[in-house]
Amino acid sequence: MPMKKSAREFNCARCHKQVIICSPCDRGNIYCGRICSRRSRALNHRIANQIYQKTQKGQQKHALRQRRYRQRLRDKQNKVTDQGSNDLSQYDLLPREEKSQEIEQFYCHFCRKAVSIFLRNGFLRHHQEDKKQVSSSWPLGP
Ligand SMILES: [Zn+2]
Ligand SMILES: [Zn+2]
Repeated sequence: MPMKKSAREFNCARCHKQVIICSPCDRGNIYCGRICSRRSRALNHRIANQIYQKTQKGQQKHALRQRRYRQRLRDKQNKVTDQGSNDLSQYDLLPREEKSQEIEQFYCHFCRKAVSIFLRNGFLRHHQEDKKQVSSSWPLGP
């Protein structure tokens, strides 16, 4: 049995989505992906005066988008259950050998490889506790 990569689990500093990242992809990421990191970097340029407005607006917009996204997911899921095994295309993205052992399998959010997450989630719990603080203060650093 091949060793799986170890991974870290964290919440995106911008949208607070839960993200799994394997150690090869992990560069201390705090965002779920390019979209969130790029957006916050763009904001950092004119951060000084407009940040308050921007975040509020952005969060509203984002919440809306999230809601739509979730709706779409739900629709998709409904479709899947309605049609039985017809629409399995999304599952085919996963490597076949992993499909057989579907119990608690996690995939790196960035490279989509199977990871074992149980090695490094100690720090996560700590982080989740001050999640609320994180959302009100701006995420640090480059
Ligand atoms: Zn995000
Ligand atoms: Zn990865």
